[in-house]
Amino acid sequence: MTFAVHGLPVARGIAIGRAVLVASSRMDVAHYFIEPAQVESEIMRVRRARNSVVDEIQRLQTEIPKDAPPELTALLDVHLMLLQDKEMENGVKHWVSERLYNGEWALTTQLEVIARQFDEMEDEYLRERKADLEQVVERILRHMKGAASPVADKPRRKTQQDLLLGDTIDVPLVLIAHDLSPADMLQFKKSVFAGFVTDVGGRTSHTAIVARSMDIPAVVGARSASQLVRQDDWVIIDGDAGVVIVDPSPIILAEYGYKQRQGEVDRERLSRLRHTPAVTLDGQRIELLANIEMPDDAAAAVKAGAAGVGLFRSEFLFMGRGGDLPGEEEQYQAYRRAVEGMQGLPVTIRTVDVGADKPLDRALKDEAHLNPALGLRAIRWSLADPAMFLDQLRAILRAAAHGPVQLLIPMLAHGSEIRQTLALVEQARADLDARGVEYGPVKIGAMIEIPAAALTLKLFLKYFDFLSVGTNDLIQYTLAIDRADESVAHLYDPLHPAVLRLLADSIAECNAQGKGVSVCGEMAGDTALTRLLLGLGLRTFSMHPAQILAVKQEVLRADASKLATWARAVVEAEDPASAMQG
Ligand code: PEP
Ligand code: MG
Repeated sequence: MTFAVHGLPVARGIAIGRAVLVASSRMDVAHYFIEPAQVESEIMRVRRARNSVVDEIQRLQTEIPKDAPPELTALLDVHLMLLQDKEMENGVKHWVSERLYNGEWALTTQLEVIARQFDEMEDEYLRERKADLEQVVERILRHMKGAASPVADKPRRKTQQDLLLGDTIDVPLVLIAHDLSPADMLQFKKSVFAGFVTDVGGRTSHTAIVARSMDIPAVVGARSASQLVRQDDWVIIDGDAGVVIVDPSPIILAEYGYKQRQGEVDRERLSRLRHTPAVTLDGQRIELLANIEMPDDAAAAVKAGAAGVGLFRSEFLFMGRGGDLPGEEEQYQAYRRAVEGMQGLPVTIRTVDVGADKPLDRALKDEAHLNPALGLRAIRWSLADPAMFLDQLRAILRAAAHGPVQLLIPMLAHGSEIRQTLALVEQARADLDARGVEYGPVKIGAMIEIPAAALTLKLFLKYFDFLSVGTNDLIQYTLAIDRADESVAHLYDPLHPAVLRLLADSIAECNAQGKGVSVCGEMAGDTALTRLLLGLGLRTFSMHPAQILAVKQEVLRADASKLATWARAVVEAEDPASAMQG
């Protein structure tokens, strides 16, 4: 039966595929396709790991001391029984042979299928066996580590016609999860999924931001999607409308197939603007920069015609490593790769911004902090660990020897933080001088993300070469709305008069003093807001590479000189959203 689940649209386009449900705890499992010829050996790989766990448990059984509690013996019996469960074994065989999933993926997929059955059981004792099953799978996975199958294949996408014919292998897959951390998302960047849906998350949560940078359809905040959708259901993700359609009828499938093709045609049309300079009708040159998360994203930025990188979110180098931080050399190599990848175009590297919805590692998420977005995040974290911060500063300065680099500092609010930060930059230079290591010049900029910073802009202009407005956080902190919380997503409003006033005044002040100013929050990539930002005097926009051409199209159609009066009226209006239409 067809039904729809509503959420928040975060990354545009239509994806049609079969659902793959993944529990958040199982995100670190590799997802790739094997070759048909590998089916037997892959099933054997899982079986061997399973048998090793059986041996392990049987050994344990013989070693149990006489005075051990009887529960322990019973528990090991249950684990043995689960390990030999036919449904588990047949399920794994099915996912490997019918879908060509790698062993780990097949195992966790079948775990999800069976776990659901446990969830639905009336008997509490049986319901609780789900945890045992998870432990057993965990043990098998541990045994499989280091014994990966040799070839990881790229996904082969099928056409709409193939879908309608109901092929069982080789079809697009969409990921459905309760939650995904930004680090999880990053893993999926190299993965096989054509779209994804999460139960939780806001429009500018970092998970959504990474999804947008992947340029695949995505919906977040879809509440109970991961409960309602079953493994292998056919699903349509409408990333424009924020709707997930489950088990669509052939007519709906055909309709969305048409929309999908239309989207491809539109993209193709936009791609012709790649080499067109971003100049308004009245001759204003606009700088369209890229936001990136990893050094290799530089290629997508260049391909999209970006004039440089306006925001390299360096924290992605720090995340998902179990708390082990990259040292100076590793960071230097990464920044250097980004700089060289941009082929002489400027790269703005933001110092690490972990905390809030970007924990260093899922396991390290500190539940004790009730308000992580207001806690030890971004520059506060860096200043709390000067040795770590100096490693990063030296790495960035060294990368600047290979091309134009700007240094950007997130989440500053206090004069004392500004002075401490600049003193540490000086120290990093002195360290490199003392070591005789080569480094390059950098301009230093601050992000305006906290209302306190926007309201004391003169202080920032005194110390910094340029400013970049992080509207994602500026909105969060001005309106006291957690940007990652879908339950207050309806109140997260870029057009709130208070937000617009802070933004408008910041841009105007920078322009008056001749200081460079950009917007690097999601507002910069929203084509519905391009004219407004141009009218407010913004000339530098930084966004996901995938958005650049659509924003350029708006720029080419705009007459910036005529937009200023209108934009001022929008900012002054009681209801700016309505005023924008007028
Ligand atoms: C912002 O806050 O607008 C921004 C660009 O930084 P981030 O989204 O990484 O917090
Ligand atoms: Mg921010």
